[in-house]
Amino acid sequence: MVSDFSRRMRMRGAGLLAITTVLATTVACGSGSADSARPGGAQGGRTDVTAAMYPLQWLAERVGGPDVAVTGLTKPGVEPHDLELTPIQVAGLEKTSLVAYIKGVQPAVDEAVEQHAADRGFDAAAAVRTLPAVAGEEEHAGEEEHGHEVAYDPHLWLDPSRFATVATLLGEKLAAADPAHAQGYKDRAAKTAADLGALDGELARGLSKCASTAIVTSHGAFGYLADRYKLRQIGISGLDPDAEPSPARLAEVAKVSKQEKVTTIFTETLVSPKVAEVLAQEVGAKTAVLDPVESQPAGGDYLSAMRQNLTALQAALSCS
Ligand SMILES: [Zn+2]
Repeated sequence: MVSDFSRRMRMRGAGLLAITTVLATTVACGSGSADSARPGGAQGGRTDVTAAMYPLQWLAERVGGPDVAVTGLTKPGVEPHDLELTPIQVAGLEKTSLVAYIKGVQPAVDEAVEQHAADRGFDAAAAVRTLPAVAGEEEHAGEEEHGHEVAYDPHLWLDPSRFATVATLLGEKLAAADPAHAQGYKDRAAKTAADLGALDGELARGLSKCASTAIVTSHGAFGYLADRYKLRQIGISGLDPDAEPSPARLAEVAKVSKQEKVTTIFTETLVSPKVAEVLAQEVGAKTAVLDPVESQPAGGDYLSAMRQNLTALQAALSCS
């Protein structure tokens, strides 16, 4: 496992080196046009905004409305944690007016923003009170090479109240980047924050009277949801869904699940449910989907996915 991981890290390093070389060449050849496009970054009167992953893309589209053209770096259905950027995507960062990202989710994005859009990055993690990373013990193998691990849990969009704070701040950032449309950004940010506040209220009410509070999840994405609604998350793997749990970790989760009389082991859409299924069989539970909303939900959006999560949680925890 570790050697596989190191190999991937080395490949990622080589890829970045190549991208940097290509960009250096591009910028050297066309520095005039790159510079003039930089501050405004507008397309047909719309301001260019780049969003690193789905929740931020949803937020940028809601708050930006008709005044922005949003480019998402993570394609639908792609698990965002291990995203690699293409040279074209990296070059696009040179021209965009604002890059919304969450430092710590996607190392390739963190690095590209630092190198190519440091003055236009909007790190949502800097906007809220983050929670410490309480990961399983095993998944940080290779951390020294990784070099991008952060001390906090980056999955902050799973608490709608924190995400509302991000919406408000994003409205302010967009207003500053495109002052001509400032009022529109502020109005839509207020509306989005209100929608997120309403969702927060539904979750708080819906999860206030439950027989159990323990949720067993595929990867530890739900720390903020657990924190906000007083649940306890037991993540099979840690903050990174690629990290395979050790047999010791699995045995521990099985033991705790039995003690807590867990009825449901949660799986995700983008992660193989195999481990969760084996665990469910072992503890006599069933499986159900809890969506970390890291990618666009099929036929829905952030709000509908979170409401489905509420329904799934109420069933698993026997809430009244
Ligand atoms: Zn995640």
